[in-house]
Amino acid sequence: MEKNPTEKMIIPHIEFVDEEEPPGQRTSKEETTLLAEYFKTNIDQEKPALSCRSLEFLKTFYPEASSQDWNNWQWQIKNSVRSIEKLSHFIKLSDNEVKPAGHNGQSLPIRISPYYLSLLDPDNPEQALRKSVVPLFDEFLLHPGEDADPLSEEHDSPVPNIVHRYPDRVLFLVTGFCSTYCRYCTRTRMVAKDKCHIGVKAWEVGLKYIEEHNEVRDVLVSGGDPLTMPDLQIEYLLSRLRNIPHVEIIRIGTKIPVVLPQRITLPLVTMLKKYHPLYMSIHFTHADEITTEVQSACEKLANAGIPLGSQTVLLKGVNDDVAVMKKLMHSLLRIRVRPYYLYQCDPVVGTGHFRTSVEKGIEIIEGLRGHTSGYAVPTYVVDAPGGGGKIPLLPDYKVGRENDSLLLRNYENKVFRYPDFT
Ligand code: SF4
Repeated sequence: MEKNPTEKMIIPHIEFVDEEEPPGQRTSKEETTLLAEYFKTNIDQEKPALSCRSLEFLKTFYPEASSQDWNNWQWQIKNSVRSIEKLSHFIKLSDNEVKPAGHNGQSLPIRISPYYLSLLDPDNPEQALRKSVVPLFDEFLLHPGEDADPLSEEHDSPVPNIVHRYPDRVLFLVTGFCSTYCRYCTRTRMVAKDKCHIGVKAWEVGLKYIEEHNEVRDVLVSGGDPLTMPDLQIEYLLSRLRNIPHVEIIRIGTKIPVVLPQRITLPLVTMLKKYHPLYMSIHFTHADEITTEVQSACEKLANAGIPLGSQTVLLKGVNDDVAVMKKLMHSLLRIRVRPYYLYQCDPVVGTGHFRTSVEKGIEIIEGLRGHTSGYAVPTYVVDAPGGGGKIPLLPDYKVGRENDSLLLRNYENKVFRYPDFT
């Protein structure tokens, strides 16, 4: 029988009883003070992580600097390596790496933070991390289909620094600066100029656009890397976005926790958590990036209640292998970062040497799905050239149909029938 919607609901009377005092002594005032002291000294204090590797590197290459300098993110940016010549003081360059010393008009400038530099193998040009940040002569080779703006972001940009492609969300490009340049960057056209932050005033047009578009419920703040800006600028931006009633969530896209974990300070996270719901997509490439320092940075962010997701670009010779990718995904889960997207490398000018076939990406997903926790399996996407947006790709698990049964294969290639009646 249908329930009469006007029928009065009878709320049962609930009696609240004082909980019985647990056995033992009450906490005395002195104990409360002691506990407060304990938590103050054990939790509130910022203890920057400094690994033996970092310390060794610091003593060798920056003997005049202190560990406080090393843990200061502004010192890291100031002392970034910005030329092939300077880079050759730290690592033994191969022929292919030395050649970019010539005219570098179209490709990205070099910038590597001292911290990330300390992770590079000085003798092995094939090391995954080294390949992702050290320029190669291959960057000057143009391959079919490559473009300076392969995703046509400028076409979908109604006002400067805003990309409005999907119905309910926008991408807000708030800076062209990064602390370390990835050699396969999709926004080479923006960061290639190695310009400084575009400044607060330049955001006004974008903020006004978001204010006037009620359909925008999600803003992805990216660039460049937004976390390379000072706390005050980030806070100004977040507070302006938070004041727009229809903006439900704010996301920050960043590689900072990976290339400059010293930037994730307690004052920064204390400020960030005022602007919830705030999400963060962190750009990881390889499990070797997950160091004590990175773990500590992600822990601070996660403890501030910021859901962390990873974005990884599939790169030939860097992470295009099931075992390598699985290790990265497992390492991410251990530091409370949920694998989110695996991107096919975009056809940006000069990145042909990094691109794998799309089959390789599908093979990697097939090697993860079912073989490990579902949480460790990212969504593999191709960002369609020309502005088509992200298109997810999956191995095909449907093998056919027999009458009213759908034939499906599982991760072990065993076929099962599913009764699929209409
Ligand atoms: S962090 Fe992002 S924007 Fe910056 S260089 Fe790398 S891929 Fe490009």
